[in-house]
Amino acid sequence: EKSSPAQTEFYQAAEEVLECLRPLFERSPYYHDHSIIERIVEPERQILFRVCWTDDAGQVQVNKGFRIQFNSALGPYKGGLRFHPSVTAGIIKFLGFEQIFKNALTGLPIGGGKGGSDFDPKGKSDGEIMRFCQAFMTELYRHIGPTTDVPAGDIGVGTREIGYLYGQYKRLTGRYEGILTGKGLDWGGSIGRKEATGYGAVYFAENMLEARGETLEGKVCLISGAGNVAIYTIEKLYELNALPVTCSDSRGTLHDPRGIDLALLKELKEIERVSLEAYLERHPEASYIPTADYPSDGHAVWRIKGDVAFPCATQNELTDTDAAALLDNGVDCISEGANMPSTAEAVDRFLAAKIAYGPGKAANAGGVATSQLEMAQNGSMQKWPLEKVDAKLKEIMAGIHRQCADTAAEFDDPTNLVLGANIAGFRRVADAMIDQGVV
Ligand code: NDP
Repeated sequence: EKSSPAQTEFYQAAEEVLECLRPLFERSPYYHDHSIIERIVEPERQILFRVCWTDDAGQVQVNKGFRIQFNSALGPYKGGLRFHPSVTAGIIKFLGFEQIFKNALTGLPIGGGKGGSDFDPKGKSDGEIMRFCQAFMTELYRHIGPTTDVPAGDIGVGTREIGYLYGQYKRLTGRYEGILTGKGLDWGGSIGRKEATGYGAVYFAENMLEARGETLEGKVCLISGAGNVAIYTIEKLYELNALPVTCSDSRGTLHDPRGIDLALLKELKEIERVSLEAYLERHPEASYIPTADYPSDGHAVWRIKGDVAFPCATQNELTDTDAAALLDNGVDCISEGANMPSTAEAVDRFLAAKIAYGPGKAANAGGVATSQLEMAQNGSMQKWPLEKVDAKLKEIMAGIHRQCADTAAEFDDPTNLVLGANIAGFRRVADAMIDQGVV
């Protein structure tokens, strides 16, 4: 029942999952008897809180804080924190819902959660970011724990923010324990976590291409976003001899047909934290399209010619018209680094065209999977080498792809990885919920 217009994205995500479950419920009506649908769409717990902090001018600022603990059938709640002015309870609910099925697909013992704030990190000093993070953790700390709820980063939350959040947790509790993932390598972080979502999305694309006898080698790749996921997608694409030619941020799109200069991109985004337009100072031959010049019905990045697309910025950044343009331009493989980047109409178009389409909940699960590897290392007081983490990530992504493809085939729609991902993820959670009784 759509009772609140404030939950648009949640309804979009839930509708997709529920539509996909139709054939499963026809074959396995006992899910009805356990009211699994009614239970799974209802979060176990939603926490809303006030976050007060002081800016550099001494002015008191107030933001909203959120944590949703959606489903713990498979393990402790796990999911990132997003700091972005667009964050609302509805956005956190959609992200938490997606997280349940994504985490189930990894095969690891993690439940679904998500959180964040409408705080805008842009233009804030380091001191302001720190004071905000400390204020945020001052409430959050009482709701999390290494075996109850373990948040990670998401948009606007990287190693710097995780550091300030972790420091405050330690100050409040006196405990040095794995209550966050994405930590720095010297203080409990896992090697390979920072890279994992992007690398995983590329491995997923590789798996989809392999299924039809192709590789990424020589493929021209379109990437949106210029943050954590986009940067490490580009890095892995170079390693596999593909050619990433675009990236974007909230101000515009960059197109460098000779290939994005990755070292410069890292410098601009990880260190200087400036707009992509600055790229042109070093590469005047590249082109930059400001958002003011975007097509009115979509995003400039999807109108550029390429072979494979990696949406890695945010939800609903790829419209139906964008999808049509991608298909017209010959793109026949899409791996989603972001959560729900394609609108429902765009997804329908990809599925109708029967291209290789990897939905976010499958293709970007490498991040949360590696977060669980970080939890495993923290829990056993161990530190694994990169080779071990990367090998596991590769294996997990291949496993997710296999599950999605096998489940799609089982339900007579072999190219539909959306159907495969939703049914496979749902079955694992639903079966665990039934085993654990009515709770
Ligand atoms: P970052 O904050 O590191 O980067 C986000 C990028 O997307 C930035 O370039 C940002 O531009 C751009 N962006 C964000 N919001 C908008 C918007 N509304 N319009 C246009 N551009 C936008 O975040 P991540 O890379 O971590 O996350 C990107 C996506 O991947 C999200 O959907 C996230 O949920 C998903 N994801 C992330 C995981 C992770 O491990 N980090 C794991 C799984 C999924 P600007 O800087 O100008 O705002």
